Amino acid sequence: DQSIADLDPDIARVLDRELDRQRATLEMIASENFVPRAVLQAQGSVLTNKYAEGYPGRRYYGGCEEVDVAETIAIDRARSLFGAAHANVQPHSGATANAAVMHALARPGDTLMGLSLAHGGHLTHGMKINFSGRLYDIAAYEVDPATGRIDMDAVRALALEHHPQVIVAGWSAYPRHLDFAAFRAIADEVGAALWVDMAHFAGLVAAGLHPSPVPHADVVSTTIHKTLGGPRSGMILSTDEWAKKIDSAVFPGQQGGPLMHVIAAKAIALKIAASDEFADRQARTLEGARLLADRLQGADAQRAGVKVVSGGTDVHLVLVDLVDSALDGQQAEDILHEVGITVNRNAVPNDPRPPRVTSGLRIGTPALATRGFGADEFTEVADVIALALQDGADLEALRARTRALADAKPLYADLRQY
Ligand code: PLP
Repeated sequence: DQSIADLDPDIARVLDRELDRQRATLEMIASENFVPRAVLQAQGSVLTNKYAEGYPGRRYYGGCEEVDVAETIAIDRARSLFGAAHANVQPHSGATANAAVMHALARPGDTLMGLSLAHGGHLTHGMKINFSGRLYDIAAYEVDPATGRIDMDAVRALALEHHPQVIVAGWSAYPRHLDFAAFRAIADEVGAALWVDMAHFAGLVAAGLHPSPVPHADVVSTTIHKTLGGPRSGMILSTDEWAKKIDSAVFPGQQGGPLMHVIAAKAIALKIAASDEFADRQARTLEGARLLADRLQGADAQRAGVKVVSGGTDVHLVLVDLVDSALDGQQAEDILHEVGITVNRNAVPNDPRPPRVTSGLRIGTPALATRGFGADEFTEVADVIALALQDGADLEALRARTRALADAKPLYADLRQY
């Protein structure tokens, strides 16, 4: 029974080097986070060996008595954390959760109304070659070009025109709160089900720092690994009315055996998400994003053609608009990579450049907040980013500043991966 280092040194080296990379750089991809050691342990546990098709107490395999306990704990914690009537913790990912939601709420050929991918929506909300765009008729709403925000009158007009069966409210790149009550009223007016995909902002909701969609929506899907800070996976919350349909859409509708090691890790993440320490982390996440948005609207940034979509942020990310900058999204991503900050380029609404290049950056603060960053560190990192995006920046000096921040907030101190 060999360790990974003896059995497969090639892969062991990847683990070592990736840990070094995470420690030495500043992670600002808005959808990423650092899981705690307990989550790593659960995911690397013997629960990975178990088949458990079905649900607790109703399995199609023997020997499920222990994993039943883990799944029941995860369900109870999810319901209590978000105040939901029903929770399904089996989705392997956010995308499979969303496939199951549509499987439960609609039939192929029905109409789904979601935020356009080019304006911040997710692939699973109706992108042409995604399952959602192939199976369903799509009516996509967009953000208002003047404000960068979703205009609920325009959403209502589109809903009255298309009469969708499902309306999805949620985003991957949008810096503002959604008006869940207005979405509910529109859904009621046209007889649609309301689905909220809170993948990005679930951690903020859990901490009480973002309006909750749960009282308004029929179904709420989420990932567990973004602001929630748990294992890479998904989850679906619903009213009692939709509970049975959601469960059968996940299994056997979309998935086979659930990943019990990941479900145990979800239970751990949901326990942490109910703590005061977690709420403090989410507050620092929000503060960091606000500091960054403010700094990127300073006089020097403006001179460099850098703007912030919608003029600020209510959440854990800032969408940087580079339409008037000398840099495109790809170049800006590469420059930040050179100074030790990892972000992703991202289309801005009505982007003149192609999706592979883009004219924007999506910059998020959850991972650094988990690393212990507070106002001082976020102020420093915002300054580094603003300076890096200017012409003739001294990238070496900026790299030294990010290295100093990484050293001041060590990540996974004394972690042994194997
Ligand atoms: N929903 C939203 C809003 C997302 O942003 C994402 C991930 O980027 C997903 C769903 C899909 O999650 P996953 O990557 O786990 O499939």
